[in-house]
Amino acid sequence: MNLFSARPLGATAARPSAPLAPGSTIGIMGGGQLGRMTALAAARLGYTCHIFTDERGSPASQVAAAATVASYADQAALAAFADAVHAVTFEFENVPHESVRFLTERIPVRPGWDCLRIAQDRLVEKEFINRLGIPTTAYASVEREGALAAAVQAIGRPAVLKTARMGYDGKGQVLIAENTPLDAAWREMGNSHAILEGFVDLAMEISVIVARGLDGKWVAYPPVENRHRNHILDVTRAPAAISDALARDAIALSAKLADAMGLVGLLAVEMFVARDGRLLVNEIAPRPHNSGHWTIDACVTSQFEQFVRAVAGLPLGSVDRHADAVMQNLIGTDVEQWPALVAEPGAKVHLYGKNEIRPGRKMGHVTRLYPKGSLTKE
Ligand code: AMP
Repeated sequence: MNLFSARPLGATAARPSAPLAPGSTIGIMGGGQLGRMTALAAARLGYTCHIFTDERGSPASQVAAAATVASYADQAALAAFADAVHAVTFEFENVPHESVRFLTERIPVRPGWDCLRIAQDRLVEKEFINRLGIPTTAYASVEREGALAAAVQAIGRPAVLKTARMGYDGKGQVLIAENTPLDAAWREMGNSHAILEGFVDLAMEISVIVARGLDGKWVAYPPVENRHRNHILDVTRAPAAISDALARDAIALSAKLADAMGLVGLLAVEMFVARDGRLLVNEIAPRPHNSGHWTIDACVTSQFEQFVRAVAGLPLGSVDRHADAVMQNLIGTDVEQWPALVAEPGAKVHLYGKNEIRPGRKMGHVTRLYPKGSLTKE
């Protein structure tokens, strides 16, 4: 077989488990920085990427061979996209799962649309996780304002009210403290179907990224510690300074979730370590994750390469790390520090090509490496 002649378009549908040959085209739904870094990793393995996004000049399109700019619900554009690629994946959760399902009838979609459906709705997600016997925060569904008082009664204060769908980076979240009026909280959250969660007294927030291949084999990066600023990830410290037993538990439950979803791709599992020692899953994302950016500079195989390998049906790579790492997000005007950062020896600067700085917008990140084992010794 000539490695460098990709199968003709459409031929993969008949042989869904054959690995994509170099030269094949991977379609990515979503045009953000996760798509951009995935396209860069795909290029290194000889693939080209075609981005489907509703944004002109998106971070991902800038580094991809082709882009379709259309609404995520545009079926004619989706059908043409399916004809132009060998497999499809997605880089953010808020792609309508119905559109991904539409693509599934035409082309291999990895991970499957059902993984997206679970992760898109905090209630569906929590039920799925609990059904596997994996603990989450206590929660209640709140379908309308009138149901909030009973939910607060059941869960207790303090609690966190979150929109069930389309929330990210703390958007659509309100803390219900001892004296918070419920009508104000409901309005601030956004008047939509919501979930009420018990507030957890946090010792630490950690996450695990699992990659799972087409053959069901999985690998996981070590748990990392995530620190947030204004609900947005600020710093990831890799690995997290936690006990070996806790790290093993975090990886085991993450792999269990990926297996149960039949996932092909990446699963990021965000967890709370409560002060009383409990390990609770907060949310899951079936895609590359901000808390895995450190792997680009510190691991044999980055999360993005691992993602491409899974989507393309290749064997997964080694998750060994050659260094410990601290990843700092550049949010909003933080990115104006770029001249100093690029002048700092050893600082690995990643900028996302976003031409407009907005408060809370992720503009880039910087990773600093430390001798392996040094961060967990502190
Ligand atoms: P989320 O969008 O669910 O990831 O929430 C964003 C951040 O808000 C989390 O990373 C936590 O720092 C905080 N948070 C969310 N839910 C809770 C909770 N139930 N208890 C304590 N902190 C929370």
